[in-house]
Amino acid sequence: MPIDHTKSIIEVRNVSFQYGDMPVLKNVTFNVHEGDYLGVIGPNGGGKTTVLKIILGLIQPTGGDVLLFGKPLRNFRNWPSIGYVPQKATHIDLLFPATVFEIVAMGRYGVKGLFCRLDHSDREHVKEALRRVGMENMGDRRIGDLSLGQQQRVFIARALAARPNIIILDEPTVGIDVTAQEQFYALLKTLNHNLGLTLILVSHDIDVVAHEVTELACINQALVYHGAPKEFLSGDALTRLYGKNARFIFHTH
Ligand code: ADP
Repeated sequence: MPIDHTKSIIEVRNVSFQYGDMPVLKNVTFNVHEGDYLGVIGPNGGGKTTVLKIILGLIQPTGGDVLLFGKPLRNFRNWPSIGYVPQKATHIDLLFPATVFEIVAMGRYGVKGLFCRLDHSDREHVKEALRRVGMENMGDRRIGDLSLGQQQRVFIARALAARPNIIILDEPTVGIDVTAQEQFYALLKTLNHNLGLTLILVSHDIDVVAHEVTELACINQALVYHGAPKEFLSGDALTRLYGKNARFIFHTH
């Protein structure tokens, strides 16, 4: 099916959230369209992870609504269509004995059910996912023996194995060296371009993100900016978000 860039697949409408008395999000509204590559940036503690948790149904907003593929969150069941690559994926136990193939195969259990046996077609999906991330020859390797950059590719493959429409990544390159980061961002771009996969990337690295994504959302309790990365960099939203030295910091980064 061709990608419909006008079709909203995630609608965040007037969403507010607070922990006890502490406001974390105030009236945040934005849409994610099919095929978007959305970067979510903002200062530490600005509410980026909270927005993701709300979209993933892990916490309930205290105000407003979220629609996923046109359905209100409470009626939404098609969770395998939304892949999630958490930051914690880079902090796995190095002694964890699973192989790369086994980790990626976990992505099929969300589709088939936890206690189902995986069949030939599931294994083909796993192999295809490994090919997509350039790890097709690494299936037998132990996850703990891989570099952090390779591990993060495996977690992308695990998400891909479920054949999702969208993948959400929370600070995926923390702790990964610069070369591996570049390869990682190149991979994300390919998945977005070639598969039409919708991506949401949360990152503190405004420099990289602004040059990779097609859309940018900046969250500091409220939605400070939503639009093209270029206009964000040339407008005053950057200063509002990071202070008057932001441009200096940004350009020397
Ligand atoms: P970001 O991802 O932009 O760094 P978060 O969404 O993680 O921001 O956090 C937003 C605010 O919510 C921060 O002030 C943080 O301290 C607070 N917060 C996050 N998780 C909890 C929690 N479980 N209990 C209380 N406060 C929390």
